[in-house]
Amino acid sequence: MQLDICEIFYSLQGESTFTGLPCVFIRLSGCNLNCSWCDTHYAREESRVMTFDQIFKKLKSYPCHLVEITGGEPLLQDNTPALISMLIKKGYQVLVETNGSKSINNLPPECIKIMDIKCPSSNESDSFLSENILFLSQQDEVKFVIGSKEDYIFAKSIIENDLGFIPQKNIHLSPVFGCISPETIANWILGDHLPARLSLQQHKIIWNPEKRGV
Ligand code: SF4
Repeated sequence: MQLDICEIFYSLQGESTFTGLPCVFIRLSGCNLNCSWCDTHYAREESRVMTFDQIFKKLKSYPCHLVEITGGEPLLQDNTPALISMLIKKGYQVLVETNGSKSINNLPPECIKIMDIKCPSSNESDSFLSENILFLSQQDEVKFVIGSKEDYIFAKSIIENDLGFIPQKNIHLSPVFGCISPETIANWILGDHLPARLSLQQHKIIWNPEKRGV
């Protein structure tokens, strides 16, 4: 089996409750959306075919058992669930970051889904497959990237109406980097007692925000 891979790299996880932990990222090629603030356009253009054996060999070169499958949109490729299952069998802890537009119902229950529900300023807020909420468990995480007050109100409505079963610590509001201040979103969360957390893209704070492979 094989997959179209954009890049595999070792860095610190920066956008979830796993933030700060060393992690190997497998970035799959291709995306079905075109978010206005996308910071990984290259994932739609750069691609090389790797067999599962080649992927496992690359993973073995890193002293790390936390793996994130990301993109682009990793669930566009039919072989992604099989890779996740095999990684779990090999003893890896697997995070899967998805844009929420493709069904997650065939992912192994052991992987942790990080679902990025797109808000209006992304221009892709119609993309969310709402039935995916049914396939989330309490260990999974939900992220809203916030670029405006309209985005915040959109996220707040979903959090309050549909995500009551997800622990507060697993619901992230993340500012569009360089577009809205973290303080603004912090004040909205505090003012509304919203059961969510403020998440900053740690890798963009540590390294140059344009730097790849971190
Ligand atoms: S889903 Fe992710 S990779 Fe795809 S366009 Fe949006 S931000 Fe970019």
